[in-house]
Formats: sequence, structure tokens, C-alpha cells
Amino acid sequence: MDTVTQRVEPVATGPKTFDAERARADFPLLSRSMRGKSLVYLDNAATSQKPRHVIDAIHRYYETLNANVHRGVYQLSEEATSAYEWGRAMTARYLNAPSPAEIVFVRGATEAVNLVAATFGRQRVGPGDEVLVSAMEHHSNIVPWQMLCDERGAKLRVIPMNERGELVLDRLPDLLTPRTRIVAVVHVSNSLGTVNPVREIIREAHARDIPVVIDGAQAAPHGPVDVQALDCDFYAVSGHKMFGPTGIGVLFGKRALLDEMPPYQGGGEMIRSVTFEKTLYAPLPMKFEAGTPNIEGAVGLGAAVDYLRQLDWEAVARHEADLLAYATEAVSDIPGLHIVGTAARKTPVVSFTLEGAHPHDIGTVLDQEGVAVRTGHHCTQPVMDFFGIPATARASMAFYNTRDDVDRLVAGLHRVREVFPR
Ligand code: PMP
Repeated sequence: MDTVTQRVEPVATGPKTFDAERARADFPLLSRSMRGKSLVYLDNAATSQKPRHVIDAIHRYYETLNANVHRGVYQLSEEATSAYEWGRAMTARYLNAPSPAEIVFVRGATEAVNLVAATFGRQRVGPGDEVLVSAMEHHSNIVPWQMLCDERGAKLRVIPMNERGELVLDRLPDLLTPRTRIVAVVHVSNSLGTVNPVREIIREAHARDIPVVIDGAQAAPHGPVDVQALDCDFYAVSGHKMFGPTGIGVLFGKRALLDEMPPYQGGGEMIRSVTFEKTLYAPLPMKFEAGTPNIEGAVGLGAAVDYLRQLDWEAVARHEADLLAYATEAVSDIPGLHIVGTAARKTPVVSFTLEGAHPHDIGTVLDQEGVAVRTGHHCTQPVMDFFGIPATARASMAFYNTRDDVDRLVAGLHRVREVFPR
């Protein structure tokens, strides 16, 4: 059972509670006020807030370490390189990657999937082949595969989901055909909160020698990931969703596959030697990191992981499960509210519609109350089409959210109900 799946199981024992109030104190932005009220930040699936540990690390980097990496022979450049590589080593540990060489820094989950589609995908997918995704993918795990399929004359196929927003895995054996070249599935859905049984999917795919790409953008913020236990071939995360900076993310790839893949982009840093006749590429992971990288991003992500590692994740799991249960029950009392996504295994995400009020109106009224939620299709238009709705309002919580935040959301929704009677 994978880490995220494991942690949303009901926990029968374990007295330790997670001190969310104490965690909040580590996040300066959470003490802001908004519209004259204390901010309730419930848009963590879009991006999370940053602990002071991360902000300080970036600050310190520029004050004491800034130089270009991997090139200078002078001490400052060596120190900057160490800081950058520390970020990689920390992330490797968080994902339990066998080696930091299998951790490629990218801009985010989107670039990670594009990298795999443009290199590995082009190697593997030809006319008449198939790429299998799921019905609840974020656009960033659909469009790159669609582009590849269009280019190669291949077909994009889809694992369906049910009304609760769970994948229908009975269909998987039929969908894994002799033409399937790649499976790409989201670990945790951003618009529904569903935790998918990715290990089972990977096992089924591997039984047919089909490699699997996991979009872990929404899983990594809810606990350490074990790519070795999952046995996924690729795993994509975004730093900004896991309490690190924007503009940095990670692609984990199994060494044997990364070794065989052509580079994604050409330029400096990714070469061993260049002549006008021939270029020899650098070893992993540099082969995939052309140009001056996002050094501050790597340092900030390293600091984020350093912060996350000291949390008691079992206690966090109980806290997040409590938040989800509490919020699910509390919003259900609002007349005309329908929760979209009621899977048995969820992260603390409550997506909903309210009869008589457009999700954007819900968001606007909640904003007046100091409550920040996301409204729209959440870059999952096929999910909205499946449920026959244009959009939802989504409250997505992190470990630093509290029952008080949920109470403020519910009070705000009662206000929405007054403004937009059914
Ligand atoms: N996958 C999922 C499930 C996401 O939620 C997101 C961000 N909303 C992405 C991929 C893309 O991440 P980014 O925009 O950071 O590249």
C-alpha cells in the first residue's frame, strides 16, 4: 500500500494529535488579514503557503551563496553547487528515490510530464499505439500525451471513473492492450481529492511490461512518497504545492530508463563535450538540465522537504482525515449543496456546487468573508464534463488548516445562501 493511500485509512489507535496551531505559526502568510478578517486559506491544491524555514533558506542563499553552479572552480561556486545538490538529495529522500541521479529538476509537474512525453514518449510510441490515462487527469497529464499521440498517429485511451469519482479498475485489464505503450495516471486528483490505487495500476501495467508515469503533484503535499514501493517508472511533483517555491519541481525516473532517453533540451550544463560534428551528453541527471538551473528553487525545495521531514506524518494523517470528515459533514447541512467527489479514499479536498449560485459567485462571496477557495474547472475539464457541470467551488486543506477554518467556510456558505436564495 502506498504512503498516501495508507495515511488516509481510518486510524483506530494512536493518541498523538497534530498541533496545527503550532504549525501555523511557522507560516507567516497565514497570519494575514483579508477584507478586514483573518485569512482562511483553503486553496492549497492550487499552491501552498511557505514556512519561514523555506523563506529564510532562499534569503540566506542570496545573501551568502549565490554563484552559478557546476562551473566555477572558486569556492563560492562550489558552495552554491553543494546547496543546489543538497536540494536534490533532500528531495530524493522525500520520494525515497534510490539515487539523487534519478531526480531531475524541472519547473513543475507540468514540465515533468512534458519531458517524459517528448523524450521517452517519442522513443516508445508509434502509429497505432496507445497511451492510457485516466478520466480524472489534470490537463497537464492529458495534453502532452494528446500532442504525442497526434504527432505519432497513436490513440489516447481513458480509464473511466464512477459517480463517486473513483477509477473503475475492472476495466483496466481490457484497456491494457498489446498496443499500450505508456500508462499515465494521477496519484491524487486535484479537483476531487480521490486517492487512486496507483500501486495496483502499476502492478497490472508492469505485468504486461508497460511503463507507468505517476502525476504526484497532489500526493506529495500530504506525506512522503515511496517511489520504490510504488515501483513507478516516473513520478512528477511540483515544489510550490509541497510548501516550497514556485518554478521548481522534480521528475523522478528509473535510472535505466533515464539513461536510455534522449535529452529534452540542448544547451550548456547538459553536455560532456561539444564539437560541431558531435556532442556527448553529461551523465544523469545533468543530461536533462540544460542551462543555468533554478538554484534558489532547488535550495527552497530542499528546505521545504527538510521542514516536512520533521512532521509526525501519522498525526498529520489523522488531523487531515478529521478535517475532511468534519468539513464533509458540516457543508452537507447547507441547503442545495452537492459534494462532487465522494471517493472512499480522499485527501482533505471538498469540491462542491450550490443550487442557485454559480461557483464564481460562491468564491466572490466567500472572499468577502476572508475565505479563499478556488472556483472553476481546476484544469480538469473532462471531470466537469463527466459530472455535467461547468465548474465547482473547491476547498482544499493542508496540515495547517483547522476546524476553525472549516467553521469560517461554513459560515461563509450560509452567507452565500442568503445572497443567492435557492
Ligand atoms: N497535476 C495535478 C494533479 C495538479 O493539481 C497540478 C497543478 N494544479 C499539476 C499537475 C500541474 O502542476 P504545475 O502547474 O505546478 O506544473
